[in-house]
Amino acid sequence: MDTKAYIEDVYGQICRRSAGEGEFHQAVDEVLRSLEPVLERHPEYVDAGIVERMSEPERQVMFRVPWVDDQGVVRVNRGFRVEFNSALGPYKGGLRFHPSVNLGIVKFLGFEQIFKNALTGMAIGGGKGGADFDPKGRSDGEVMRFCQAFMTELYRHLGEHTDVPAGDIGVGAREIGYLFGQYKRITNRYESGVLTGKPVAWGGSHARTEATGYGTVYFAQEMLATRGQSFEGRRVVVSGSGNVAVYAIEKVHALGGRVIACSDSSGYLVDEEGIDLDLLKDIKEVRRERISAYADAKPTARFSARGTVYDVPCDLALPCATQNELRRDDAAALVKNGVIAVAEGANMPCTPEAVEVFREGGVLFGPGKAANAGGVATSALEMQQNAARDTWSFQQTESRLAAIMRDVHAQCRETAETYGANADDYVLGANITGFLRVADAMTAQGVV
Ligand code: NDP
Repeated sequence: MDTKAYIEDVYGQICRRSAGEGEFHQAVDEVLRSLEPVLERHPEYVDAGIVERMSEPERQVMFRVPWVDDQGVVRVNRGFRVEFNSALGPYKGGLRFHPSVNLGIVKFLGFEQIFKNALTGMAIGGGKGGADFDPKGRSDGEVMRFCQAFMTELYRHLGEHTDVPAGDIGVGAREIGYLFGQYKRITNRYESGVLTGKPVAWGGSHARTEATGYGTVYFAQEMLATRGQSFEGRRVVVSGSGNVAVYAIEKVHALGGRVIACSDSSGYLVDEEGIDLDLLKDIKEVRRERISAYADAKPTARFSARGTVYDVPCDLALPCATQNELRRDDAAALVKNGVIAVAEGANMPCTPEAVEVFREGGVLFGPGKAANAGGVATSALEMQQNAARDTWSFQQTESRLAAIMRDVHAQCRETAETYGANADDYVLGANITGFLRVADAMTAQGVV
């Protein structure tokens, strides 16, 4: 069978075996499309069944999460942990609490995580988890009880050398605190390295909160530099207003750019003066309100519940909200308005059709696997600090992050060229670099 037919055959098997898991199919399809030149050069990976093994999780756990709300009503959610691949290290990847969470979404995230984690060059495998629980509008007491119920099942699968979760959508410092407290209570162990994204005061790393957003901007900065350009004076649009978005905005402003629009799931906000980050953080992080509150507080801003943030003309776009939020029409609008570069702060925010529009339009496109790898890389730095019972300064940690992002960027370009593509093909470069590292480790470890 020729390589193309082999890949199609494997993809067909995966789709049949995981019926209804659309996002997972999409993520697998994107990686498999990149692998043709690798498998042609290395038939030993085909003989060893690497692709088939890599696309089947080593283990997946689904469990009931029963808890009691403030009115005394018993609630039941579904929890997930997909331990995808441990060839390079313990399973590593965040927990997402959002009503849309289902097995297909957790699997797509876990699958992407394998390649992303490998790209960082650190000793971490890939995994992901979460629950279909919506923390929005819930009291702190309800969130705590939910987190305790969730960890009461999850703890038996975790360990600093086994599986190390972190935050993601709906899981920030508050949730990590409750999860860690329950893990400690059940196991009677102060195992700092079992969760990352902890507050600095008790085992967290400086710069972890900022890492994904900052890292995405560093990656975009590297992409711009290949064309002799920079963020200075650029108009930038960011989607979302959560952890990744807020710190992407902060770093763009530090590099001389101006973020003029951002969003949440209720709509988007334009402020031609540049987003006032203190106000945004107060609304989203302290008051936990909708983004429209920003426009109520600042006369230069306008809020729109219709259309998308990508309708706003800009030089760079950083999608930092959620999967498949940037579609073909959005990409076409961005290209029409002259966008130079798009870097994914979120996981798979651009649909395949949107990515194709960017490719045809000559737009520099940084896929999430590479562009948002700074978050998990800094989580691995947090694990290093925990293992050494050490705390590095903000500056030291941020400079490690910046170096990692430069390296990820350089490797994507180098691999793309090695495998016959244009160096600007970051999708191919990221997928192949990650694949090779994991495939070599899997080969060395035998059929397991
Ligand atoms: P947060 O929960 O902090 O923020 C998510 C943001 O996205 C919120 O502003 C939310 O708005 C918005 N959002 C969610 N769904 C939609 C939607 N359908 N349309 C528009 N906006 C939406 O999550 P994070 O910032 O941590 O994560 C954002 C993305 O980055 C995710 O894809 C995540 O997987 C990825 N990522 C995160 C990392 C991290 O370190 N946190 C690491 C690597 C990737 P609302 O409040 O209205 O729901």
